[in-house]
Order: sequence, then structure tokens, then C-alpha cells
Amino acid sequence: MLAIRPERLLSVWEQGARRHPIDRALLLYALAAPEQPADRLADMPIGARNAALMALRRASFGGHLASWVDCPACGERMEFALDAADLPPMPVASTDPIVVAGHRFLRPTSRHLAALVNADDPEAAARQLLRDCAESADGLPRDEAALAELLEAAEAAIEAADPWADLSLAIACPVCAHEAEASFDIASYLWEELDSHARRLLDDIHALASAYGWTEPAILALSDARRAAYLDRVRA
Ligand SMILES: [Zn+2]
Repeated sequence: MLAIRPERLLSVWEQGARRHPIDRALLLYALAAPEQPADRLADMPIGARNAALMALRRASFGGHLASWVDCPACGERMEFALDAADLPPMPVASTDPIVVAGHRFLRPTSRHLAALVNADDPEAAARQLLRDCAESADGLPRDEAALAELLEAAEAAIEAADPWADLSLAIACPVCAHEAEASFDIASYLWEELDSHARRLLDDIHALASAYGWTEPAILALSDARRAAYLDRVRA
């Protein structure tokens, strides 16, 4: 781990372990963008959050990401590799509203997503998100069909303005040839990686503390190379 110091890694892991994924993503965002005031991060567009998390991921673990998705048609597990260099260019962190058919919409933020966590119907959630992001919700069409049309146009406009808000990949299943869009969630991906690094680090601390009686801060203060060298001796 180059970009995250071990004690910081453990403290973020500890804070995030029992939180909702949206809050975990915000903890990672604070780690990725220390120059931003922490209380503003929830109001930053999701695309800006994702781009910052990808930059942190590249700096910590490199730009090559291996992942998998289950085929929605036959259930076959498909592995795929993603290279950060192939993703759309990093967006400028714009908070300018997006104008669709004369309506002005804010870009969806973590706060908007958090307001939807209890919605169980994805279509209702999408309509609520549209209303929550509208600068003037009173001006939205009342007619269902017109609202659905506006929703579709707004989703397309957000995707065009901010491709990082929802990173999706075209996937073709090698077994059944089903073609699908798989969305790639950098926040949960990075959290899983951080979680496994934190657990490995705790194992290392446990091994060294048991063998030498050193304290956790003393072990964390060692460089990675020295910690690994002592662990080799303990485990030899
Ligand atoms: Zn399939």
C-alpha cells in the first residue's frame, strides 16, 4: 500500500466496518480527497466521488482491476479485467446543474442516494431521485408518461455530462451469449480491497505482538519492508 498509511487504513476500516455502503464510500472519499472539507463530501456529485476513489485505487494498488459479474440470463460467472487507463477521462468536479427540457437538475450526490436507501422499487426510487435533484420540483410534469419521458432524458443527460456517475461495461456471456451492461461500483470494490488489507495487517500485528510483545503502534510504525522481514522470521 503506497498511498494509505497502515494506521490510517486500520482507522478507516474500523470506522466503516458497520456502516452503510454509502457512508463507507464517503470515508474512502475523505481518504482520497483530504483537501476537501469533510462536511462537503456528501454534497459532491457521485461522478466526482468515483473519480477520486479511482485515483486513490490507482495510487494504492495500481490501475489494473480484476472483477467478476454473474450473467443475468444463465448465472455463469464471468471474470473481466478493467484497466483504469481505458475508463473515460477523469471529470472536472463540476457541480453545474444539468438542463433537460427546460428543467434544471443537480447532479446526484451521496446525500441524494442516502435518501433512497429504504426505497424498494427501483422505478419509484428513480422518480424520487428526479424530484430530489430538480431545482424546482413543483415545475415537474404531473402526468406519469411525461414524467417517465423526462426521467429517461435526464438519465441520458447525466450520463453524457458525467460518465463517472455510473461506470458500466458491456459484457457478453461466453456460455449463453447474453449481452448486458454490468455496472462497476468502484466504492464497493475499493472497500473490499481495503477490508482484506486491513485483515491481513491485523494478522501481521497479531503475529508480531505474540512473538515479540511489541505494541500495535510500534508494529505499525515499522516500514512495510521491516515488518515483512520480521514476519518471515516469526513464520520460518
Ligand atoms: Zn449467460
